[in-house]
Amino acid sequence: MPHLQVSTLFRRLPREHPLFSEIESEFLKQSAGHYGENTVYHFLHYLPSDYLILKDLHLFDGHNHFQIDFLVISKNFLLIIEVKNFKGELIFDFDNSQLLRRLAETLEVFPDPFLQVEHQKIQLAQWLALYDFGNIPIYSFIAIANPNTKIETLGNQPCKKERLVRAKGLVSAVYNLSARFSKKFYSTNEMTQLSERLMAENTPYHVSLLKKYNLSIKDLTPGVLCKGCSCFTMERRRDHWCCKACGVKSKKAHLEALRDYQILFGSVVTSAEIKSFTGIHSDYHAKTILIENSAKIIGKTKDRKYVLKPLF
Ligand SMILES: [Zn+2]
Repeated sequence: MPHLQVSTLFRRLPREHPLFSEIESEFLKQSAGHYGENTVYHFLHYLPSDYLILKDLHLFDGHNHFQIDFLVISKNFLLIIEVKNFKGELIFDFDNSQLLRRLAETLEVFPDPFLQVEHQKIQLAQWLALYDFGNIPIYSFIAIANPNTKIETLGNQPCKKERLVRAKGLVSAVYNLSARFSKKFYSTNEMTQLSERLMAENTPYHVSLLKKYNLSIKDLTPGVLCKGCSCFTMERRRDHWCCKACGVKSKKAHLEALRDYQILFGSVVTSAEIKSFTGIHSDYHAKTILIENSAKIIGKTKDRKYVLKPLF
């Protein structure tokens, strides 16, 4: 969801807007994170079905919220996987608990991911106690998603070094780990119960990016996107859309604009709002499109509100 919001905002924000470069760098940062998580998921998928894999969990430990990129549930242990997707060279400085990244002659310092997962482990243990899931061992890996990242370590800490795993090596690392734990903590049924409970308690943050950056609908590029020339140049004709720049025709081009609207502003919309966002002039066309894509209509004539059905 945050990635969808930032990619939509990035697409709709004019290049000359004062916040464009800030949104662009946020978009690039999130895209890298998103790409990293997809890569890891791709490989974790090769684990057999006696492991359950949960992605991007946002939980509350009774005091604070915490987030876990991946959680692997097995009968014998739980495994937290924190994903790092960086370009360049990563230097894990074990002695000083820091992560350094060298890229094009610059050296940047990042928080130590090992400290990060240690804290996630404490929070997860607290969460498990809160929901009566017992004292199962919790283990953690740092997964390096980009196969071209050069990894270096400073300090002699084999226990940490073996927890630094490349995405492609994750499945065998999980098998190696399994071989070490023989005590069974959960039955298959309990594993399912835990996974269902985690999903039920998973509460992704709903930070509105527009609020965060203090942007309104007026800051965005209005219109309906043309797939042919990637400009917001589609014009509504009687029963279809036609691009005034390249002539491409489409029956459903407005769906993407409605989706953009829903991602950025939520599901409740008026006909006037959708007219200004899509550039539709006719009341009739706006109403037809809204009725087709709404789950519910609230109110009468003038201040009627449409509740869009889920479009993404
Ligand atoms: Zn076009």
